[in-house]
Amino acid sequence: MNIDEFRENAHFLVEWMVEYLKNIETYPVKSPVKPKEIIEQLPDAPPEDGESFDIIFSDFCKIILPGITHWQHPSFFAYFPANNSFPSILGEMAMATIGAQCMIWETSPSAAELEERVMQWTARMIGLPDCFTGVIQDTASTSTLVSILTAREKFSGYEINSKGFTRNKKFTVYCSKETHSSIEKAVKIAGIGRENLRKIDVDEKFSLIPEFLEDSIRKDIQNGYIPLCTIATIGTTGSTAIDPLKPIGEVCKRYNLWLHVDAALAGTALVLPEKRWMIEGIENVDTFVFNPHKWMFTNFDCSAYFVKDKEALIKTFEIHPEYLKTQEDKKVNNYRDWGIQLGRRFRALKLWFVIRNFGVNGIREKIRSHIQMAKELASMIENSPDFELIAPVPLNTVCFRWKPENINNLDYLNRLNEQLLENLNKSGKLYLTHTKLNGIYTIRFVVGQTNVQKKHVEQAWEFIVDVSKDMRKKFLKGRSSL
Ligand SMILES: *Cc1c(COP(=O)(O)O)cnc(C)c1O
Repeated sequence: MNIDEFRENAHFLVEWMVEYLKNIETYPVKSPVKPKEIIEQLPDAPPEDGESFDIIFSDFCKIILPGITHWQHPSFFAYFPANNSFPSILGEMAMATIGAQCMIWETSPSAAELEERVMQWTARMIGLPDCFTGVIQDTASTSTLVSILTAREKFSGYEINSKGFTRNKKFTVYCSKETHSSIEKAVKIAGIGRENLRKIDVDEKFSLIPEFLEDSIRKDIQNGYIPLCTIATIGTTGSTAIDPLKPIGEVCKRYNLWLHVDAALAGTALVLPEKRWMIEGIENVDTFVFNPHKWMFTNFDCSAYFVKDKEALIKTFEIHPEYLKTQEDKKVNNYRDWGIQLGRRFRALKLWFVIRNFGVNGIREKIRSHIQMAKELASMIENSPDFELIAPVPLNTVCFRWKPENINNLDYLNRLNEQLLENLNKSGKLYLTHTKLNGIYTIRFVVGQTNVQKKHVEQAWEFIVDVSKDMRKKFLKGRSSL
């Protein structure tokens, strides 16, 4: 492809992008393809000779698009949002065009300095105090691993980095039973061991119970363990439960534990002054992560990680190979030393485009409307005799199940809801996913796609009710077989 062909293809692609996003509601939200359906259409071997963009693109439309689940469909209510937006897409395009590898300041000074500034903006937007310094990581999973590794090194006097686990230190880490699986993964990778992760019980709102945390820490100290770190979640993946940061922070302070906050999804809601209560107690927090790539309209990936003791972070990760030394090292941020990867994408660019184009007020408005829509859905569910809420709705996630009158058997209800979910998703009209809360098969309805409107939520709810009525008719007919 030469530069003139590139120009032509790029213009063509932009036209396609506009049509795709304009017509996104005509696609089935969840891809209907079966396993192997895509790979079987792809040749075993790469082409020996180059192919034209026309042919490649036509295969993209024919083979690849049917196997895409459309996360930007406004009726995508599954998992969590992984939003894009127009300014973010433009940022990604500019970034891809420049193609810079931003491992150190010198490899693109603008990337390092824009990241520094945009992270300061982001901290201010979500109400973090000035003592936090930000850096962009790829994901919340990585951010949490970075936090646990920093805690491990700070608390061992940077000894494990140099000598490994020589003295067989038995660290313990604490989180709630509702905590995201990435915490267990990080504990495994950090060499702490899954068996040394304590999953503390939650209350009726699915929030960690601080008294149980303290009991567990005390017991571990008595048994010769070294309690290292607690992970509090603001907005659990299951039901957006909010762990009480203040009492948890006080326990951590009392027993000298590192405190990391995982706010991967819900951190964005902190742009709203009325949601700032969620970080009451932030003064005892060591590190904090949230993902602009979830609910803040910024293309995946972009995870905002904040740390109080920046020196401890850098001391944990810094490397000094001769070929990466520069004269400016003392005056600048070399972000290769602020996390795991050496090579880094220029992620700050798209975040800058997003924050400037939306403005903080534009972001607030969207988030507020998503939370309001979730609230309205929750009250429709509450007022419906055949459905019930399974968890409180503090943010944008509504956890519910179908519970037809006179049916009380848990296993039967679980199977019924599993079947309902499958029937809903099969339609292609919307996409919902599930979790289990207290053994209850729970359908999650997450309102958070960039362009979701009230009508999408209302249509989805009507559809859920209709499908459940159809199912009910069918199983009433076959009652004897139940
Ligand atoms: C989504 C999520 C994660 C994982 O985020 P990644 O960026 O995909 O690693 C972790 N914790 C919570 C609470 C989440 O919602």
